[in-house]
Amino acid sequence: HDYTKDDIRNLVKSENVEFLRLTFTDMYGIIKNVEVPVSQLEKVLENNLMFDGSSIDGFVRIEESDMYLYPDLSTFMIFPWATDSHGGKVARIIASVYTADRKPFVGDPRNVLIANLDKMKQQGFDSFNIGTEPEFFLFKLDENGKPTTKLNDSGSYFDLEPLDMGENVRREIVLTLEEMGFEVEAAHHEVAPGQHEVDFKYASALEAADNIQTFKLIVKTIARKYNLYATFLPKPVSGINGNGMHTNMSLFTAGKNQFFAEDDELQLSTTAYNFLGGILKHATNFTAITNPTVNSYKRLVPGFEAPVYVAWSGSNRSPMVRVPASRGQSTRLELRSVDPTANPYLALAGILAAGLDGIKDKIEPAESVDRNIYLMDEAERIKAGIHDLPDTLLAAVRNLEGDRIIREAIGINLSQQFIDAKLLEYRAYRQEVSQWELDSYLDIY
Ligand code: GLN
Ligand code: MG
Ligand code: MG
Ligand code: MG
Repeated sequence: HDYTKDDIRNLVKSENVEFLRLTFTDMYGIIKNVEVPVSQLEKVLENNLMFDGSSIDGFVRIEESDMYLYPDLSTFMIFPWATDSHGGKVARIIASVYTADRKPFVGDPRNVLIANLDKMKQQGFDSFNIGTEPEFFLFKLDENGKPTTKLNDSGSYFDLEPLDMGENVRREIVLTLEEMGFEVEAAHHEVAPGQHEVDFKYASALEAADNIQTFKLIVKTIARKYNLYATFLPKPVSGINGNGMHTNMSLFTAGKNQFFAEDDELQLSTTAYNFLGGILKHATNFTAITNPTVNSYKRLVPGFEAPVYVAWSGSNRSPMVRVPASRGQSTRLELRSVDPTANPYLALAGILAAGLDGIKDKIEPAESVDRNIYLMDEAERIKAGIHDLPDTLLAAVRNLEGDRIIREAIGINLSQQFIDAKLLEYRAYRQEVSQWELDSYLDIY
C-alpha cells in the first residue's frame, strides 16, 4: 500500500486504532517493538519517535543510545486479533532505525538490506524479487502452556484430514494472512508429522523480508489460539525432516525478468548464470547468515531433503540451488539451504551481494549436477567440483570472517558483532554434555 500520512490518520480514526506498534528487527532476527498510544501519532508520522537503543543486541553504542524510528508507511497494518480493553485496535508500522543525527543506523538489519538494494540499482537492476517457502512444526503445549516437542498429528506430505490435524489451524493462518493483505499461493502439510508450509506471493526483497517477519508472528499467534506452539526451529526433532525456508529469487529491470533468455539450453540468461556463480562461490561463507543457529547444522545433513553440498541442478532436487521449471517472468533460482532462523534482512543482503559479485566478475558456475549427489562418493564429488556446506556454526562463522564481500554487505561493524555473538553461542553449546554422548559412551568408558 502506498499510504500517505493522511491515509494513516484517516485509517486510525475510522478503524478505532488506539495503539501503534513500531517494529524493527534485531541482529538475531527477533522482532522488537515500541508501542505508543495514538495520541503520539503525529510524533510517529514526523519521524520524531525516540527510543533507547543501547540494550538492543547489535545496537550497542552506549554513548549515542538515543535513536529515532522512521516509520515505513507502506507497512501499516491493523492486527485482526489485538484489541485493548476499550475495544480499540492495535496497528503496527515497520520502522527503520535512525541515529540521533538523523542518519540511517548501520546496525539496523533493515537498513543493511536497503543499502544493498541501492547498490543493486547502481548495477542496473530495479528489483530483487523473492518468494520464500517457510516451514514450521505445530507442537502441543504442556499443562503450564510451555512448548513441548510432542507432535499433534501423524500426517505427511500433502495429506488430508483426519491425519492432518493441523488443517484447521493452517486455514485460520491463511485467512488471517489474507485479512492482513498477503496473497497466499499454497498451504500444505509437509513431509514430517506435524510439519506445515505456507507459501505467499513473491515480492521485492524489502517487502519480502518484512512479510517473513509478519508471517512468523501470525503463525505463532494463531497456533496459540489452538493451544499449539508453532516453531520455525530448523531441526526440533532428530530423525525426521527439519524446517527449511527455500528462497526463490530473480532480478528484474523495467518489469522484465533478467534471468530469462529464450535462446539458452536451460533458457537462463548470462545474468542468471553469473548470479548463480556468485552464489556458489560465496555459499560456504554466507551460510552463517542464512543458517545462524547451532541447531541449523542438524538440519543440513543427508537424508532429510536439506542440502549438504554446494552444487546446482536444472532438474534434480538434491542440490543447494535448483532451477524450478517455470520460465518467462517466473524464471528463478531456488536456494534451498536457507532456514527460517535466518534474519531475513541480513540473509537477503548476503545472498544479493554474492549474486551481484558473480555478475560483476562474470563468474561461471560449475557444471550442473543432474544426478542424486547423495549417491556419489567423496571421490566422485571432488571430481565434479562439489564441496561441502559448513557442518557446524563454528565452521560457518570462521568462513564468514574471511569473506570481505559478504562482510561488507552486512557492514564490517555489524558483521563483527554477529561473529562475536555467534562464537559465544557456539562455545556455550560446546560446553554442554548431550544425551547422545551419555547414551554412546557412559556404558563403555
Ligand atoms: N523440509 C525440507 C528442508 O529441510 C524441505 C522439504 C521440501 O520442501 N521439499 O529443507
Ligand atoms: Mg515448497
Ligand atoms: Mg517445503
Ligand atoms: Mg521449494
